[in-house]
Amino acid sequence: MSKRAIFWFRRDLRLADNPALLAAIDEADEVIPLFILDDEISERAGAHRRAYLAASLKSLNESLNGNLFVISGNPVEVIKDLMSRYKADSVHSAFPFAPYGEARDAELKASGIELQQLGSGYAIAPGRVRKGDDTPYRVYTPFYRAWLAHGWRAPVAAPKNPNWVAPKKSDQQLPDWNSPEGIQLQEAGEKAALARFKNFLKKAADDYGDARNIPGIEGTSRLSPHLRWGEIHPRTILAALGNSAGHEIYRKEIAWREFYADVLHHNPHTSRDYYDAKFKKMRYDKPGKQFTAWCEGKTGFPFVDAAMRQLVQEGWMHNRARMVVASFLVKDLHIEWQHGANFFMKYLIDNDVASNSHGWQWTAGCGTDASPYYRVFNPIEQGRRFDPDGVYIKKYIPELSHLTGDDIHEPWDSDSGYKNGYVKRIVDHAAERLESLARLEEIKVTKEPKP
Ligand SMILES: Cc1cc2nc3c(=O)[nH]c(=O)nc-3n(C[C@H](O)[C@H](O)[C@H](O)COP(=O)(O)OP(=O)(O)OC[C@H]3O[C@@H](n4cnc5c(N)ncnc54)[C@H](O)[C@@H]3O)c2cc1C
Repeated sequence: MSKRAIFWFRRDLRLADNPALLAAIDEADEVIPLFILDDEISERAGAHRRAYLAASLKSLNESLNGNLFVISGNPVEVIKDLMSRYKADSVHSAFPFAPYGEARDAELKASGIELQQLGSGYAIAPGRVRKGDDTPYRVYTPFYRAWLAHGWRAPVAAPKNPNWVAPKKSDQQLPDWNSPEGIQLQEAGEKAALARFKNFLKKAADDYGDARNIPGIEGTSRLSPHLRWGEIHPRTILAALGNSAGHEIYRKEIAWREFYADVLHHNPHTSRDYYDAKFKKMRYDKPGKQFTAWCEGKTGFPFVDAAMRQLVQEGWMHNRARMVVASFLVKDLHIEWQHGANFFMKYLIDNDVASNSHGWQWTAGCGTDASPYYRVFNPIEQGRRFDPDGVYIKKYIPELSHLTGDDIHEPWDSDSGYKNGYVKRIVDHAAERLESLARLEEIKVTKEPKP
């Protein structure tokens, strides 16, 4: 009798370099390629993420010759029902390595469904890179060295002409979520991911070391949404990198993603809670009008506002800008990092709980930070340094487009700074920096403020 396997696509919406998919194909004569739209996606994800996912599923369906099963509901019920209706013998997927996915797996196993799992969305599965005494790393640089020394497998090719089971029409509930009006999301899907990576290697990877900090140019790869949805595997990326300075720095960035996944794996509470518990005692302000101004890109600090508007318009924000707006929220507005992290999770199409929560905690000073001082980014100086001509600011803040690079970072010093209705500053950065250091003093953290 012929065998049927279900392959459950989750954060691996691709055919190439997908060992778990190959395992399902090897084991069975026919495969049911499945994506489940559960509540987290259908009800809790923001409109940007849903639109990106819908586009990615459409692209995956095309690669599967129109055979992708897409079913809404609770994974246990969906899989049980599918197994019985289509007479499937086994269920395959990759390991998720994030608290939400792991909880879903536990429910599945508890219901008696055996899940055959292989591989993950990382070059090296979280938990594997350990110190000599078998404890996890807490600091990035030694993790990076050990991660490199550990090494990873070569990518595997896409399957050749597998037998997909054709879905009944009612089992193909491809969502028709479109981008919110006026919002331009980057192209989703495996093909787009591979094309973007190829283009990055050709045009930007060599200059990446310097260009990656300039938000006004296309100096980074923008592969984060593709990595988040597994439209490309990091092994595919790593295999194509050489030893030039730009490639070396890029490899280190990929390793940050792996490091944070490892840290979250060992400390699952840090998805929402403090990595350094001392900071829980810090005095924070409740989110109110200033928080709303931050969310809307109306703080009166041009670099911060441009970044927040970029997030809402594109579902993505440049890394330098993420650090600056996060620092501004926590250290200028004294609002706890989780409020900002939640806002990011709502809009980002690359939302990733490990990189997001730890990116926030790194900036807030309560994360895996080897820095000996308490970092407070100056939003004006960051703008001057990384957006000297105001290209990034002008792109997102038309109210400031008439100003030159000299004036744009401090419109309050220009006679015409507010002539097009740009908002006034909601705080005084110098004063709030001192306030932040005073609050740090109250919790008697041993780290010394930078002079
Ligand atoms: C407050 C804050 C929140 C963040 N939230 C997320 C998030 O939800 N999802 C997410 O993928 N990244 C997050 N990051 C990390 C980083 O900002 C993005 O990965 C990066 O901006 C994505 O753009 P890119 O693909 O062009 O990056 P590139 O510069 O081209 O880097 C290539 C890849 O390396 C990885 N990478 C680069 N920098 C980092 C970093 N600092 N931490 C972890 N991985 C990194 C990403 O996978 C990225 O796609 C956050 C950073 C901060 C400071």
